[in-house]
Amino acid sequence: MLVLSQSDVHRLLTMPKCVELMRETLSALARGEATLPLRTVFAIPDGAFAVMPAALSNPSTVGAKLITVLPKNHGTQYDSHQGAVLLFDTGNGSLLSVMDASSITQIRTAAASGVATDALARQSATSLGILGAGVQGQSHLEAMCAVRPLKSAKIWSRNRDSAESLAKVAREKFGLDAAAVGSASEAVTGLDIVCATTSATEPVLLGEWLTPGTHVNAVGASQRHAREIDSATVVRSRLYVDRRESALKEPGDIIVPIENGEITPDHILGEVGEVLIGTAPGRTSDSDITLFKSLGLAIEDLASAHFLYAEARRQHAGVEVELGGMRH
Ligand code: NDP
Repeated sequence: MLVLSQSDVHRLLTMPKCVELMRETLSALARGEATLPLRTVFAIPDGAFAVMPAALSNPSTVGAKLITVLPKNHGTQYDSHQGAVLLFDTGNGSLLSVMDASSITQIRTAAASGVATDALARQSATSLGILGAGVQGQSHLEAMCAVRPLKSAKIWSRNRDSAESLAKVAREKFGLDAAAVGSASEAVTGLDIVCATTSATEPVLLGEWLTPGTHVNAVGASQRHAREIDSATVVRSRLYVDRRESALKEPGDIIVPIENGEITPDHILGEVGEVLIGTAPGRTSDSDITLFKSLGLAIEDLASAHFLYAEARRQHAGVEVELGGMRH
């Protein structure tokens, strides 16, 4: 059994490669090639524990992510998302690998938003706004640069220093004309692509700030009690999700507007994978506001793990551990 660390994952799984993997994986979901039960999530002190199982038929693979989510870890030495992705051999049932989940979650979430952005944002998009300069804020900067030739970025975070640090990365690593801004509205209004990547439980993105033509990725607030975007954002947008079933059962961002009668479930125009394979319509004009509500799917972790395992074997990376399951 192969153990892959956080640094192994970061070395082996680049953002462009992960965008390619997420494109294949979300398309496979739309073609009905995935087994994806709803995740099990329950509260633990200050956070949540989630079990996320999945299987894919091509390539044939099965596994699960087990993860804790503790927003209070932000600013400490611990990631807010921690755990492991377990990958099994579908031929003999053995456990092939245990991998760091923080890094896989970091990369695959932004890569999935990259796929949604590539499918839904205007081709001419050059400006980016980021709300929340944490782990996902950083990886979304990289993912957005991987799918559009961006020129500028505005970054807002509650903590001005975090926003300044990410703006520096945007300038120095990605060559953008980037600045930290003092209000969330400045990182939304007039921009082509907006990524909301905060742990906020009350809306930080208001629909009244949005400009026609913008594409929004809403990445935080994956549970019923939490909202990162207000109802006006959802109502004004052409709404897309990673998976319809999850979107109707998990996030306050969609459930609350439905419960309030502000939208009906058919306000969801499609899953991103359906847009990719042509069974759902995408953007219809340069003035549409498109919204991707991301929840994060276990197949995204699984597809990443499947690639990482093969790549690690090829590069002789990771640490081998004897765990059992074989007769001697
Ligand atoms: P981090 O802990 O690294 O960062 C949290 C970010 O949220 C920081 O930028 C912080 O800003 C900001 N923040 C926290 N509380 C508030 C608030 N009340 N109002 C405004 N901003 C706030 O977390 P991650 O980057 O790993 O995750 C960010 C969000 O994305 C979380 O909600 C997480 O659950 C979600 N997520 C979603 C995934 C998906 O697949 N859809 C996968 C992984 C994460 P500051 O530092 O300035 O205070």
